[in-house]
Amino acid sequence: NKKVLKVEDLRIYFHTKSGDAKAVDGNHFTMYENETLAIVGESGCGKSVTAMSILGLVDKPGEIMPGSKIMYTGNVPENAEGLNLAQASDEQIREIRGNEISMIFQEPMSSLNPVITVGDQITENIMTHEDVDAKAARERAIELLSEVGISRPEKVVDNYPFQLSGGMCQRVMIAMALSCKPKLLIADEPTTALDVTIQAQILSLMNRLKEKTGTSIMLITHDLGVVAQVADHVNVMYAGKVVESAPVNELFENPKHPYTIGLMKSMPSLADKEERLSTIEGSVPNSLYLPKGCYFADRCPFAMEKCKAEQPSDTKIKSRHHVWCFLHEEEDHAGK
Ligand code: SF4
Ligand code: MG
Repeated sequence: NKKVLKVEDLRIYFHTKSGDAKAVDGNHFTMYENETLAIVGESGCGKSVTAMSILGLVDKPGEIMPGSKIMYTGNVPENAEGLNLAQASDEQIREIRGNEISMIFQEPMSSLNPVITVGDQITENIMTHEDVDAKAARERAIELLSEVGISRPEKVVDNYPFQLSGGMCQRVMIAMALSCKPKLLIADEPTTALDVTIQAQILSLMNRLKEKTGTSIMLITHDLGVVAQVADHVNVMYAGKVVESAPVNELFENPKHPYTIGLMKSMPSLADKEERLSTIEGSVPNSLYLPKGCYFADRCPFAMEKCKAEQPSDTKIKSRHHVWCFLHEEEDHAGK
């Protein structure tokens, strides 16, 4: 599959009076067409900030640090360099945002304009990106609403957001995000506010649309159940860093990082019914005062002397399965 985005050495610091809060401190991943990458972790681990940086939405006192690379290659031929979004001008990013890259958020209600009908919102979006007249755009809007599984779209098109349920609003948001046929769709906790049944419907809808359009999807979530349903590849983040990266089946069958294993044990559907649901003791370190060694050391049941002194580096377990943990250093298969 074609590469759409390659992020390397991404660091995002918030310059505060007490020093630099390292919200993201060395993130890297590659996104491909027709693939869903899930970014998983507890709140505050840098997932949303990573997404914001791709859209050029990191504002002061935040800064994407020099050396960070966010190479967008969705609109250039294979193997071409692409545009570094970390250094692009506001104008370059504006051209790409909502056109090549679109985003859906957790709270659809707050992202939709309450005083404009959903049809007019989608139509307006289509007309900003395409040279079509109002009538054709409205027809497209109705088509899109039906594609995202809204029955009677010709009626809903004239509804205001408040007339629709949360699940319907999220479908409208997805229709809107898809109206510009994005190469990359970023979904930040898109189903967290919805009940389980609607959540499953929205997730399978996203899957179908990915298959149909080949869009690359970044799914940000704290929920491994959601990951199991839709992800192709998973990055687990902890305190601003990726600690494990693997294809979804590999991650669930063969998790390596103690944090990943801890997350799985705390998952209701995966934990043994007899076994009490365990949670990971302790809390995420403050991004202002990060430890010198492994950021997980304080909570890790396997922490060794070395873990407090140094940061673990990348260990390749197998193709596309990487872990950052001293326990697995010996298993490095890179170049062997
Ligand atoms: Fe635990 Fe050490 Fe691995 Fe960090 S590097 S997760 S402290 S064993
Ligand atoms: Mg978030």
